[in-house]
Amino acid sequence: MNKKPKIAVIGAGITGLTTAWRLSGGSALSNSGSTPAKDDFEVHLFEATSHLGGKIMGEDFCDTKIDLGPESILSRVPQTLNLVEKLGLNDQMIFPNSKKSLIWSKGKLNELPKDTMMGIPRKIRISSLLPLVSLMSPIGLIRMMMEPLLPPTGAPEDISVGEFIKKRLGKELVNVLVDPLLSGVYACSSYDLSLAATLPALDVIRKSNRTIKAGIKASSKTKTNIATTIAGDNIFFSFKDGLSVLTDKLEQQLIEQDVVIHKQTPVYKVKKSSSGWEVKTPNESFFVDSIVLATPAWQSSQIVEDISSELALELKGLNYTSVALVTFAYKKEAINLPIKANGFVVSKQEGLTTTACTWSSQKWPRFDNSEYFILRASVGNKDNQEILKQSDEEIIQKVQTELENIISISTIPAAVKVSRWNFALPQYKPGHLSKIKKIEQLCQSLGKISITGSSLYGIGIASCIANADKTSIKIISQLS
Ligand SMILES: Cc1cc2nc3c(=O)[nH]c(=O)nc-3n(C[C@H](O)[C@H](O)[C@H](O)COP(=O)(O)OP(=O)(O)OC[C@H]3O[C@@H](n4cnc5c(N)ncnc54)[C@H](O)[C@@H]3O)c2cc1C
Repeated sequence: MNKKPKIAVIGAGITGLTTAWRLSGGSALSNSGSTPAKDDFEVHLFEATSHLGGKIMGEDFCDTKIDLGPESILSRVPQTLNLVEKLGLNDQMIFPNSKKSLIWSKGKLNELPKDTMMGIPRKIRISSLLPLVSLMSPIGLIRMMMEPLLPPTGAPEDISVGEFIKKRLGKELVNVLVDPLLSGVYACSSYDLSLAATLPALDVIRKSNRTIKAGIKASSKTKTNIATTIAGDNIFFSFKDGLSVLTDKLEQQLIEQDVVIHKQTPVYKVKKSSSGWEVKTPNESFFVDSIVLATPAWQSSQIVEDISSELALELKGLNYTSVALVTFAYKKEAINLPIKANGFVVSKQEGLTTTACTWSSQKWPRFDNSEYFILRASVGNKDNQEILKQSDEEIIQKVQTELENIISISTIPAAVKVSRWNFALPQYKPGHLSKIKKIEQLCQSLGKISITGSSLYGIGIASCIANADKTSIKIISQLS
């Protein structure tokens, strides 16, 4: 009798969990994929800590439960909604109460214009630019309107998001809108981010030598509505008890699908063996046919050191930055918000420690029954890592003072929690896609080894799920 092929999935964040689920019988999440039978493969999942879910992590806080890391998932990626449906979690989904977001700029909270692509108005005409009047100077607005008169930007291999938008629509739009919005997600300036990897739709427009105005118009005509009925027109979603609902359910399914879960088992190294791979952990070695690394690039780099110094070097070259989140619980009656919105991002020019703040209790219905109002502030980005060297108390003091200046708060918080995320956010620099290509080529030359996860293919959870599905499809075809 033929032995079942063995697969080692290393790292149990959302990427590793989804990959292990798919390889042990989880349904295909995209039309092109096939679903293996539960016992087609012997799947081993290795996780360094005792927690499954990686950055998705919840904690009891006052009379509620908060997310210590990510708090929402993009619904416009079909694989994500498919996963939610296959896991039977539809009735656990929740959506933000408001679609409105704000920006702290020029000493006040301003509404962010609706219908933008990361700060770039989708319609560049006078009526849609009106909401920008309070944020930008007349010269900055006129500069934006001049885009159709400019020659094409040209098509070098890649360019930063900031550089491209500055060339097309002017520096002011980058400073006022694009940077604060991108910084809220990527914790770095738009001048540090690859256009092709961060905003591929805009890169297609650049390469077609169209104006942004014409390009966005054309792409919205061909846009298919991929949000299924379960998310309606909501761009983001969460679950009634936070994002751990998803990872807890995956863990439960993995047990049912006979995945061998090795918690508190860091993989030190992988080595070639006579029949495949040796996976080295502190206490024993495992011999498998195929390996998936779903660990952050700097950790993957150490794991592959012995099999390819070139691959290790490429992975080491992918940069990360650190951030911290400060979550406050105030008695509900102590908070008086000026407007119904999800929170605000901060313009860099304001020189604050806080880079963004989510008004969690106003954003998510799941906090309705709590006695407390939850506020969650972000701190630190690539250009301000100094703040993260300060103690929790110092950071709390700074953020609390800033929040009290921005919104009406009449008392001290009932509880505060600082969650530090060191080397947690990958930074996709210009040229990122070429690096990925190189990494993929090196993996291919080594045999059945795949590298996946947020270091390479998109930093959001939705991209991690889509990529886990894609990686699984590749492995199923390699081993079948
Ligand atoms: C503060 C913060 C807020 C965020 N907010 C959002 C948000 O709201 N929405 C969103 O979509 N995205 C958000 N993100 C991004 C998102 O959290 C990540 O991209 C995603 O969770 C990454 O998942 P992953 O599985 O690729 O990696 P991880 O979650 O990093 O998982 C990797 C796992 O590998 C394990 N590991 C590492 N080394 C080894 C080893 N040697 N052996 C075995 N195991 C190992 C780790 O312990 C970990 O469990 C946020 C990120 C941060 C830091």
